[in-house]
Amino acid sequence: IRLYKEVAGKSPSKGQLPFSTDWFLTWQENIHSSLFLNIYEYLSKGVALDAVELLTKAYRLYNEQVAAAEIEPLLSFTRAWRLVKFVDAGMLTRTKCSQCGGQFVSELYENRHYTCGLCNPPARAGKSKSAGALTLH
Ligand SMILES: [Zn+2]
Repeated sequence: IRLYKEVAGKSPSKGQLPFSTDWFLTWQENIHSSLFLNIYEYLSKGVALDAVELLTKAYRLYNEQVAAAEIEPLLSFTRAWRLVKFVDAGMLTRTKCSQCGGQFVSELYENRHYTCGLCNPPARAGKSKSAGALTLH
């Protein structure tokens, strides 16, 4: 909450903080989360930024990517921050998709034949424009 205040300049609204990893593992949410985390991991290896700068910069880039693909950003700043915390805590990680080779947010012990939500969308998803617009390579 302190970090959120520092970055957003206001307190997060009550009940807004997601404390479950489930959200990040749902289909479209997972694709957005993975996009953000890939940007975050990429930045963290490149330049020396403190935690707040890294998070805000990665989140800004995520928004730019999503805007370029003309889709709604599903990942809020609070969730992006929460995702990083889950990864830090070892509750979530990235797993390579066995089909496209992209890195996706997953639970820690995902099996080796993991297939991402882009290669294997759920039946209900159909051919969604918003899913196809995002690639993580
Ligand atoms: Zn894939």
